[in-house]
Amino acid sequence: MAAALIDGKAYAAALRERIAAAVPAFAAAAGRPPGLAVVLVGEDPASQVYVRAKGKAVLAAGMASFEHKLPDTTTQAELIALVARLNADEAVDGILVQLPLPAAIDAQSVIAAIDPARDVDGFTPVNAGRLAVGAPGLVPCTPLGCLMLLKDRLGDLSGLDAVVIGRSNIVGKPMAQLLLKENCTVTIAHSRTRDLAALVRRADIVVAAIGRAEMIKGDWLKPGATVIDVGINRQPDGKLVGDVEFSVARTRAAVITPVPGGVGPLTIAMLLQNTLLAARQKLAS
Ligand code: NDP
Repeated sequence: MAAALIDGKAYAAALRERIAAAVPAFAAAAGRPPGLAVVLVGEDPASQVYVRAKGKAVLAAGMASFEHKLPDTTTQAELIALVARLNADEAVDGILVQLPLPAAIDAQSVIAAIDPARDVDGFTPVNAGRLAVGAPGLVPCTPLGCLMLLKDRLGDLSGLDAVVIGRSNIVGKPMAQLLLKENCTVTIAHSRTRDLAALVRRADIVVAAIGRAEMIKGDWLKPGATVIDVGINRQPDGKLVGDVEFSVARTRAAVITPVPGGVGPLTIAMLLQNTLLAARQKLAS
């Protein structure tokens, strides 16, 4: 039987509608809409597309968007000075520095300069630490979206075997923390993992966040598994594919996210959710 496809666009549209509906009440209480500042350094085409999409989504939700586009000659000190100004700006509830940054800038130093209360990407060491110890904080958007899909489809995740392939700070690690918090038995795989197929074979939940086209073979999957494919890989013919061999995986999994149209749309919706959360917390503090 073919797996059910998760329609990430529909989930994202519903979430964005709910967020937009909540914005007027915040604006009435605060005397201003929630505000997100997005900082882009350099001319990376993919980053420009993401930043444009984020700005549009912010405005569509009734929030204020503050875009800061800097040349790729910007120094680390100049960028950190901008972050410090945004940290002190009362109209700014969320700050996002688009990655990757030019090679001359140390991304970790810039991220660490963001006020954790405005860190809507959830990348600061403070928010990563909060997630690790199970304290409330801002959680990275992509894994948050994946968890929403999983809970919506599977309900209680307690006791399920989950394998997360990829250990980046923005997807793999926080995803594993979130699944652990939901009482899954979590295995994190990476490029030095010895027998990936064997790990995937016994997993009820597979989250692939690698960045390698269709590397996870469909016949590795346990029949009935739930597959969340985070990977976005552009093929030479321009087509986008995920990290999972979709055509075969569809015949073995119970539920799978397509690429495109699965996890991708949820990331921006979660960014809006984090911005509203940060704005509300700032207002209440
Ligand atoms: P990174 O490159 O930071 O991390 C990739 C991870 O995959 C690393 O941990 C790496 O292991 C692991 N890996 C690489 N090769 C193998 C292998 N042969 N076997 C097992 N593991 C391997 O990528 P990101 O986490 O930033 O992104 C992952 C993918 O998700 C990309 O395709 C990206 O475009 C996509 N993405 C999608 C988003 C969305 O909104 N849908 C948002 C963010 C990312 P090691 O640590 O050992 O090097």
